[in-house]
This record gives sequence, structure tokens and C-alpha cells, in this order.
Amino acid sequence: MITSKRYFQKKEYEKEPIFDRVYVVTLFTFYWKITVDTINFAKKLVKEINYRYPETNAYYGYMTRGCIRKCSFCAVPTLEPQYCEYIPLKQRIDEIKSKFGEQRNLLLLDNNVLASPRFPEIIQEIIDCGFEKGAAYTEPNQYAIALRNLQSGLNDIAYINKLFCLNVDLLSRLKGEQEQQFFNLLDENKLLNTKTVTKENLLKVAGDILPLYTKYVRKLPRQRYVDFNQGVDARLFTEENAMLLGKINIRPLRIAFDNIKDIKYYENAIRLSAKAGIKDFSNYLLYNFNDKPIDLYQRLKINIELCEELDINIYSFPMKFHPITGEDRFNRDYLGRYWNRKYIRAIQAILNAIKGKVGRGKEFFYKAFGESEEQFFKILEMPETFILYRFFFEWLGEVKNYSVSTMSWWNCWQETFSLLTEQETADLLEIIHQNKFSLQTELYVDNTKFSKLLSFYTNFRDDVVTQGTELYILKQEYDKNPTRKLRRKKR
Ligand code: SF4
Repeated sequence: MITSKRYFQKKEYEKEPIFDRVYVVTLFTFYWKITVDTINFAKKLVKEINYRYPETNAYYGYMTRGCIRKCSFCAVPTLEPQYCEYIPLKQRIDEIKSKFGEQRNLLLLDNNVLASPRFPEIIQEIIDCGFEKGAAYTEPNQYAIALRNLQSGLNDIAYINKLFCLNVDLLSRLKGEQEQQFFNLLDENKLLNTKTVTKENLLKVAGDILPLYTKYVRKLPRQRYVDFNQGVDARLFTEENAMLLGKINIRPLRIAFDNIKDIKYYENAIRLSAKAGIKDFSNYLLYNFNDKPIDLYQRLKINIELCEELDINIYSFPMKFHPITGEDRFNRDYLGRYWNRKYIRAIQAILNAIKGKVGRGKEFFYKAFGESEEQFFKILEMPETFILYRFFFEWLGEVKNYSVSTMSWWNCWQETFSLLTEQETADLLEIIHQNKFSLQTELYVDNTKFSKLLSFYTNFRDDVVTQGTELYILKQEYDKNPTRKLRRKKR
């Protein structure tokens, strides 16, 4: 793309944007000012922006900063070394409300709110802001707010776009003659296309549109929620603070379970919260740190059992550890002391298949991670493609009796290891755990004891998706009548 100096000097880009998309990258919060300026400038260069951010209808804030702990895997002690036990909220909420209208949810980014000796005051302030248990939210008149902000020149690009979208929304709600008349009004004023819409024309017709919008776009009351987005510290739970949490409309309550040794604290936190009436939980589980692979299985299983016993929902999110300090800093291939590359890939393949989260329901969990610790390790050792297309490769063995299947791999595994010496067992496991199969199978092609089993690890993923291959054809057949997919259990 060739652009002249004049194009920038005369700001021609504002009249005639030429880029389809501009990427802006930023690394640190303290660059926020230049980042915002850059984004606002970049917005003038692109032809059309109509991106809807997923969580816009919320207040964002902090009521504390920093953390009283110094977990070695965490950046908070470095970024926010001083613990600040209270930051007022209400005045900020009121300011946002008067400028942008009432928002639905409250997202608090505190790192360790339970550590604050002013926690009861914090909860009371959240209640005073309208987030008590059972609180509902009715969306204010977005057209009136956007119009007011466009008139005052708060952010012309944003509010031109907002009013454009609200007009489109209104058009989709009208019927018959009214729809036609409204369409004509937008058409005559060039308001049907983001490239032709202008502030002047939007303001010109606003007086006609606002009453229509107020009449036809009615929003029903909905539940509103508080989310301590960074989680609360299980080790600081008491009956009192759990009851305080139960007084606000919290959903989900996020509690980390990073170390199996914290099981006593974790279970206590969940039980006290459930007793306080909290039903929905979210749980981050660090792995690939100082933990063993089996710890991850056990932590996930505890969550499944707690869900059943207490009739609650816990969504678990396993999070892989990457060092943020030391010589392995930012090493994406970092391996924890007890982990190997194959197991890491296997966990990622399972998580890929279940979209990164583990929900309620024993049946679902057992299928994904195994019914027992032995089965969990069997899945970790399984060829990656077999994990990704689990039902298909099981079907190949059970229904088609095909040579490549989960069943034939497992038979081969058992037979192979039964014939190996201790040293050979260690060698073969080492090869598998390195997870570099194309290279390894070439090296060991002459080792008849290893080669048959290793051949299962050659990546079949390409075959499954490459037209014309046997596996592709079988996959087509399977997809017409797939094995019943497990559904996450909902309350
Ligand atoms: S408790 Fe949480 S926020 Fe505090 S240092 Fe540990 S991981 Fe970081």
C-alpha cells in the first residue's frame, strides 16, 4: 500500500480511510495513555469498525490493591508490592452512571480482597451500589445517553458508531409501514452505511428517532452480578466473611486451587460459601509448577464431588504454569519438575476438546480425564490425535475393527511393554514422553520391539482431515452417525 506524505499531513485518512484492520499491541498498564491515543488514531485509518466487546455492560474497578502473599509464580507482588486495604467505589460508580448510564455488572479486579481488614465495609459499599443479593438491572435508554454524549462531543467516533448500531437495532424491531418510513428516514439522511453516516445527520433526525426508540426498545429487568475477577484466597475464609460474600450477588465466586496441599482450605472455602447461599464457582488450577500430574486429576475430581454433594456448580480452568522470572522467563516450552512434554500436550488436547473448562457432571469428567488414576495416565499416554477425536478412534476399534484405533493402540501398548526389560521400558517411555514422534519413529524403525507401538504416535491428524485418505472417509461415515456426545450437566 502506497500512501503519500500529503495523505497524512492533510489528514486525508479521516475522509477516506484505506485500511481494513489495524493491530495495536501494548504490554504494560502504565502505557495506557499512549495506547488509548494510538487506538483512537488507528480508528481513523480503518474503513469500518463494528466490533462489539464481549463485556461492556459492567463497571470495572478495584477496592484493594496488591496482595499480602508472595507466591513465587505470581506477578502481583512485583507489580503491586504495597497492599492497599481499601479504595472507595461508590463515587466512581456514580460518576460513570451519570456519564454513561447504569451498567449491569460489577467486575472487581482485586488480587486479594479477603486480606483487607475493611472487608465488611467493602461488602456494604458494594450493596450500597446496588449489587445486593437478588439485585436486578434494567438497561437505561441507550439512545438518549448516546445522543447526549454525541451532542456534548464526548467521543464522536464512538457515539456515531453507537447511534448507527442503535438505529439498525430499532429498524429490525419495526414492522410494515413503520419499518418502511424509518428505513426511508435513514436512507434520505445517509444513515444506513457506516461510511456515509455523519454526526450532523444523526443529530438532525434524533428528535424523530428518540420517541420511537423509547417506545419500541424496552428492556426487561435482568439479574446483575458481582465478580471478583482475580479470585479470592481460600486460606482466608471464615464463616463471617463467607456470610458477607453471600450478601452480594456474586457469580461466579472464583477461588484458586493451585496446590493439592491446600485441599483443607479449599474445601472449607467452598463449603462455607455454599452454606452462605453461593451456587456458582469458578476455579483456576495451576499445573506444570511444583505439582505432579496426578495432583491435577485429584483436584479436578474433588470439584466434581463437591458439585454433587453440595448441589453447586464449579467450573474448573486448568492453567499451565510459565515462569515469569529467572532463566526460564517466558519460556513457553517450560516443563515442571514432574511433567513431560507428552503429558503437557495430552492435557492441552483434552482441554481443547472440552473448550478449556471442566464443568459439573461425573460422566463428562470421567470421559474426559478417566474414571480412575490409572485411566487418567492411560489417556496421558494416548496418541494425541486419539485424544482429540476420542469417540471416533474408539468407534474405529469397537464398531469397524479397524487396524488403527484406541483399542488396537492399547493392546499394542500392553503387549509391547510386557516383552520389555526394565531398561527398555524406561527407554521407550522416555521416547514417548519426549513427544517428538516423527523423528523417533525414524530412529527406531529398526527396533522391532518399539516400532509397532511408536507407529501409533505418527500424527494421524492430517489423515483425518485430508480428503481421500482412508481415515478421512471413515471419519465422514462416523460423522453421519456419531457416538452420542456427552453434554455438560446443568443445574
Ligand atoms: S495469593 Fe494470589 S495474588 Fe497473592 S501472590 Fe499468591 S497468587 Fe498472587
